[in-house]
Amino acid sequence: VGDDRLTVAVRVRPLNAQECLHHTVRNVTKVNGNELTILVGTSADSSCGVNHTFVYDRVFYSCDPDSEKYATQKEVYDGTAKPLIHRAFEGYNACLFAYGQTGSGKSYSMMGVDTLVDPISSNLVNSEAGIIPRYCFDLFEYIETNKEKFHAEIEISFFEIYNEKIHDLLCLEDSDYGSNNFKNHLGTPKPDRKALKVREHPIWGPYVVGLSVHPVDSYESLRNWLIVGNSQRASAATGLNDKSSRSHSIFNIMLNITDVDRKTINDDQGNGSCQSRRSKVSLVDLAGSERVSNSNGERKREGVHINKSLLTLGKVIAALSNEKNHVQSKIFVPYRESALTWLLRENLGGNSKTVMLATISPANTHIDETLATLRYACQASRIINRVKVNESQHD
Ligand code: ADP
Ligand code: MG
Repeated sequence: VGDDRLTVAVRVRPLNAQECLHHTVRNVTKVNGNELTILVGTSADSSCGVNHTFVYDRVFYSCDPDSEKYATQKEVYDGTAKPLIHRAFEGYNACLFAYGQTGSGKSYSMMGVDTLVDPISSNLVNSEAGIIPRYCFDLFEYIETNKEKFHAEIEISFFEIYNEKIHDLLCLEDSDYGSNNFKNHLGTPKPDRKALKVREHPIWGPYVVGLSVHPVDSYESLRNWLIVGNSQRASAATGLNDKSSRSHSIFNIMLNITDVDRKTINDDQGNGSCQSRRSKVSLVDLAGSERVSNSNGERKREGVHINKSLLTLGKVIAALSNEKNHVQSKIFVPYRESALTWLLRENLGGNSKTVMLATISPANTHIDETLATLRYACQASRIINRVKVNESQHD
């Protein structure tokens, strides 16, 4: 058992084409190592405003491709999720979640673009692939490299939380099982997808009742499920205005690892004990962090209530980051007030190596949301998790 502080990384996206055309829009970010400065001022030299400087574990500057500091998709992956590969095989739970306002680069960082268009021909991860495909690719590479040392079974699940309702993104019709026609499902989410509920298992903790779980034995098979999930997420979004920015998507990888040595001993002697480790990795693309009051009147008229999961995540982070709470043995953390925080309980202050990737826009026009995100990220960096290996002894 050890203590492990939450790792916090920040990524700055480029100005988009529209912003570049607009002469009043400018980049107000400056990166120096792990330091990020937001230049607050009304003129190009920021002498008339107060600058804000923040320090994080990592700062990825993906704003200007010509800059020597420019961080590629690979560099962001290498610096955030890649270290979680080894940890997962050691039997530690892990989690990476992307937090930031809509349009700041959460989905680009987590999933990337054009990575999943052609499932058959390439098993190479292209340069714009995000963290999830890269992580999954490396996972199977790791298994292949270490197949003399251990045997690993991988299962995945993929779901989203929208208005506190959970929807399975990998739920196919019965007739699709066992066949290779997952493609039939691209772009056609079931119209009557039912909402699933969170329950508490006495031993294994919170879980989603009725969520489909899929064994995968190669990157290709996993990738097919990613395609299904992404297309179900995307096409469901078109029906409801802006749904994707207000839903959280959670991709879970469950690992069951058995050391080959111990297995052999067990087989030969018949009375040996077989040791295995289990771990769960959650890769999360959160809903946009912007306040409802900041968004357009249209949405206000819709009467959309605040995102309860995101609000509770804030409360959980505040409770866990309060230093007084570390001293007291009993603290109340409102995990169960939302589906997201309930399901991520182990990842927030519990048994998990957790990384937060805060994504921000470089534009002066988004400065308020950017500062809100950066302050939130600072608070999160004070969370300490208690990590231990999930070892189980079978006789
Ligand atoms: P979010 O998921 O936070 O709402 P997206 O990931 O969809 O935001 O990003 C918004 C737009 O900006 C997309 O068109 C995306 O391709 C682009 N984008 C975001 N981050 C980057 C980046 N680091 N490099 C290039 N394009 C990016
Ligand atoms: Mg997104």
